[in-house]
Amino acid sequence: MLNDKIAIITGGTRGIGLETARTFAKNGAQVIIFGSRQETVDKAINELKKENLSVAGYCPSLNNYQEIEQTVKTILDRYGRIDTLVNNAGISADKPIEDTTPEEFDKVIDLNLRAVFYVTKAVVPSMKAKGDGVILNTSSMVSIYGQPSGVGYPASKFAVNGLTKSLARELAPAGIRVNAVAPGITNTDMVAALPPEMIEPLIKTIPLGRIGEPQDIANAFLFLASDLASYITGTILQVDGAARA
Ligand code: NAD
Repeated sequence: MLNDKIAIITGGTRGIGLETARTFAKNGAQVIIFGSRQETVDKAINELKKENLSVAGYCPSLNNYQEIEQTVKTILDRYGRIDTLVNNAGISADKPIEDTTPEEFDKVIDLNLRAVFYVTKAVVPSMKAKGDGVILNTSSMVSIYGQPSGVGYPASKFAVNGLTKSLARELAPAGIRVNAVAPGITNTDMVAALPPEMIEPLIKTIPLGRIGEPQDIANAFLFLASDLASYITGTILQVDGAARA
């Protein structure tokens, strides 16, 4: 479905990002993952290599626009183009507002929103020059419903939806589609660490009767990245088993 596409996936070293890297590579893409440390990037590359999937990786600081721009230039020099960008790196927050420091709030916004703007800004000129491209963002179920604490996280994801819908309109004339996937609770390291007594009641609230698997989310990214979605832009695709938490 993605034969010969050049795809960058941020936060591609584990969880949803790693599964998306695996799925894209299995579907013929040349995948380039961005991670926060060389060590975790190498670990992910080696894990996929054992499955005969060849991916590349870099670790620019996602808080530093110049570093991102330089890395994108290196990728363009090496591969000639970027077809697909998946802005997936993200951190969550769960403290009540009185316990959240301004610095903690900024940290969530810096990665979940500002970095999405930075990486997107760095790849758009080359996509515009070739006249097509796909930009996909990882939003969240909380971008629709909010959450009862950790306000920086839903605030950042509401903003990601705004960025997605607005850039879809701005970049459509240039042939660039922009969409987001909004996962419900998904079985990554973060969730696996939670005790069963916390997970079981949550599962009971999900009409499809289970939490999402990273593959469920990767499949949505695969569809939106592919030509099957060629008339879809500006959408926030909920992949949450109809959870309404
Ligand atoms: P994860 O913690 O397993 O993976 C997060 C990824 O982001 C990792 O690859 C990590 O290296 C990267 N990352 C974290 N901090 C970084 C930094 N400062 N700089 C660069 N990269 C950094 O989490 P996940 O569950 O796979 O989450 C991926 C995305 O999905 C996030 O945007 C998250 O908000 C979103 N999401 C997750 C769930 C869920 O239940 N797991 C639900 C909705 C949305």
